[in-house]
Amino acid sequence: MANILVIEDEPGIASFVAKGLRSAGFQATVVGTGAEGIAHAISGGYDLVVLDIGLPDIDGFEVLRRTRQAGVRTAVIILTARTSVDDTVAGLEGGADDYVPKPFRFEELLARVRLRLRPDSAADEVTVLSHGDLSLDLRTRQASAGGRPVDLSAREFTLLETFLRHPEQVLSREQLLSRVWGYDFDPGSNVVDVYVRYLRRKVGAERLVTVRGMGYRLVAPQG
Ligand code: CA
Repeated sequence: MANILVIEDEPGIASFVAKGLRSAGFQATVVGTGAEGIAHAISGGYDLVVLDIGLPDIDGFEVLRRTRQAGVRTAVIILTARTSVDDTVAGLEGGADDYVPKPFRFEELLARVRLRLRPDSAADEVTVLSHGDLSLDLRTRQASAGGRPVDLSAREFTLLETFLRHPEQVLSREQLLSRVWGYDFDPGSNVVDVYVRYLRRKVGAERLVTVRGMGYRLVAPQG
């Protein structure tokens, strides 16, 4: 099981990332300062580092510079609110492997994490997800239900992708919110229910079952 070091000082984001990584099957250790981050990264035992730029003591670029200087070669993915090209380039030149601008959806970060952990197997990545006669091509972004093509908005696409990665499992509104909308979304929002309704209209209501008090489940109706 890959062990991931998360250097992030905002508790909400740190727990969002750590919870998501654990539910995706990784081990996650969270530290909230640059100094602790450097100490953990140098002590070893990590397969990947997720590094915030805005930290209370020293910034993420300095953390990166010092860990690289200490000979640490672990892949580093930078998280930052600063989306300017200059910062990206500074980060990548400083030895970061990838870059995710905030705010981000967990699935975006997870995709980068998986890519960095298995760089040679990226070509083998599944590109078509399916369950029963419902399928989604991740490259062409085309969905089909019962053999007929379905046009999806960007959000509907991500929602369907999330269901297809967890077929027959009950996904709670909270899980769907964090995976599809991101950590900065109001947990009291009914946006999940609204989008499940949109998706039902497009792929067939019988495929997305409401599990009362728990959430939603993607099923493959018979016949
Ligand atoms: Ca921060």
